[in-house]
Amino acid sequence: MKNISTYNFQGKRALIRVDFNVPLDKETLKVTDDTRIKAAVPTIKKVLEGGGSVILMSHLGRPNNEPEKKFSLENIISKIEENLGQSVGFVSDCISDEAFEKSSSLQSGHVLLLENLRFHEGEKKGSREMAEKLARHGDVYINDAFGTAHRAHASTAVIADFFPEEKMFGFLIQKEIESVDKVLKSNKKPLTAIVGGAKVSSKISIITNLLDKVDNLIIGGGMAFTFVKAQNGKVGDSLVEEDYIDTAKQILKDAEAKGVNLLIPIDSIIADEFSNEANTNQVEIDQIDFGWMGLDIGTRSIELFKKTIMDSQLILWNGPMGVFEMPKFQKGTKEIALAVAIATDKGAFSLVGGGDSVAAVNEFNLADRVSHVSTGGGAMLEYLEGKTLPGIAAILS
Ligand code: AMP
Repeated sequence: MKNISTYNFQGKRALIRVDFNVPLDKETLKVTDDTRIKAAVPTIKKVLEGGGSVILMSHLGRPNNEPEKKFSLENIISKIEENLGQSVGFVSDCISDEAFEKSSSLQSGHVLLLENLRFHEGEKKGSREMAEKLARHGDVYINDAFGTAHRAHASTAVIADFFPEEKMFGFLIQKEIESVDKVLKSNKKPLTAIVGGAKVSSKISIITNLLDKVDNLIIGGGMAFTFVKAQNGKVGDSLVEEDYIDTAKQILKDAEAKGVNLLIPIDSIIADEFSNEANTNQVEIDQIDFGWMGLDIGTRSIELFKKTIMDSQLILWNGPMGVFEMPKFQKGTKEIALAVAIATDKGAFSLVGGGDSVAAVNEFNLADRVSHVSTGGGAMLEYLEGKTLPGIAAILS
């Protein structure tokens, strides 16, 4: 494996797997959010400034293994050009003769974008034949698509076999790996993980993996009610996964055995319907009557959680504390986001990973007050679960 920071790109064609799966306006097919394009710029510029040329490959959306205009990467060329400040060539099939001609004659300093990889079924199937063809485009392979690193697709993992020496991570993946490792592999203490969101079932592997690493584990959101019920609390009509009550009991036991300080909410903002117009009240978390459901953590829980967060050196946050999409139930998530930001100001390292907590820090304008906001939803979750990501393993092997 090579390192992008020290690699000499002079005269080399760098084949970069980027994640340009950006949202497009349904009518105009124009890019509505270019965050992912911006994020890839440092890696692309590094190659160009080092005297190399760049061949970009990505997927976009979920096409049905054949070309479709609404999923064409042609729709995003102007946004890439705008972000790079230079023109970008395009080929309408990623493994056609025309594509090979264009990439083989690409001059240093130039950029070529290949059409959507998922127009070929070999991409998602992880076809070796497709990977071999794609590999012909470059002298060196860079994977900078963290969002798809948990997939063993042709362009994200299999292709690395064809670059036994000349393969590396881009800056984006490097930063994601460094950030998680900083939280989960460092000796700094205390380490606090905040896990929220709707369901225990979708977070169980993360919690299990974290129990061996954290000092404090804060549980919030809808999933907290399965834990409250596991302790014989009255949860009314709150979200509970009956099938996971035993799992919650086991987690409570394991936390105690491992010396993890597991915090669940002590009070809740309850509502008489799942709506921002609902009547609300604040009660003890284990005293919720039928006809009511807990949709946010209460003020005493906020204070309890904040105190632990403020005293932490390392913080990992995944999942909201309540139904933060509704203004009436966003206070808990907002206050926790703020506490993470303040702890970061005081010197803690904080990582926010996974879809909804990322949306929350963005909504509360706190994204630049935490140390790292992960771009890869599913990939980050699998990484936190302790799984080996094929896209990362392929570069490291
Ligand atoms: P997840 O994708 O598992 O992280 O869950 C995020 C979702 O959990 C968000 O859409 C929240 O609205 C939802 N959520 C958080 N707290 C609750 C709650 N107390 N009851 C129901 N849904 C919740």
